[in-house]
Amino acid sequence: MKRVYLRIIVLGVCSLGIVAVLADQDHHVSIGHKSEGPVRSTPGENPWNEGHAPDDWWGAIKSMHGHVGPRNVLGWRIGQAALREFDTKWGRHDLDIICYIPMETPYSCMVDGLVLGTGNSIGRLDIHLAEVMSIDLIYVAVRRKDGTGPVLILKPKPDYLKRIEKRTVHELEELSRQCSIMKESELFQIERIRSSKVKE
Ligand SMILES: [Zn+2]
Repeated sequence: MKRVYLRIIVLGVCSLGIVAVLADQDHHVSIGHKSEGPVRSTPGENPWNEGHAPDDWWGAIKSMHGHVGPRNVLGWRIGQAALREFDTKWGRHDLDIICYIPMETPYSCMVDGLVLGTGNSIGRLDIHLAEVMSIDLIYVAVRRKDGTGPVLILKPKPDYLKRIEKRTVHELEELSRQCSIMKESELFQIERIRSSKVKE
């Protein structure tokens, strides 16, 4: 009698295993069937880009970066200006951005502001860091991915960079608030130059 029970249990376990394998195969088949082969994320308003700008950009910088400093806010302001100048929206990923900075904090803090100011992402390779050897050479270059239009050079004003140089952690919030409301022309200048992508 015990053997019969054992056989029933063994058969039961085996059949469950077969069902599980079949279900798994079916799962793979359905995914494979729907797939249209390898694809890459594309710019614009499409299912690749369903992100939305944070309602609380200040809080988003703090969560991501650990504090809000004037260079974060400067990056955020430059990012917002780039979206406006190219008449595009946050998170569409249709701009390429290169941030030229000395590769050390606090200069690099600007990059997190740029990420949250545009929705561009380091992982999607539409925001790059390039090293410069002097704070006099800090700037952000932006162009459309499709190569149309100019390259925008957004260069922080030397006077402003001096103003935020070597400040204590207790001054970060006040300096950041100031940066968020200062006139753009006091923070950075915008220059348009020709893109290497544009055909002559
Ligand atoms: Zn920082």
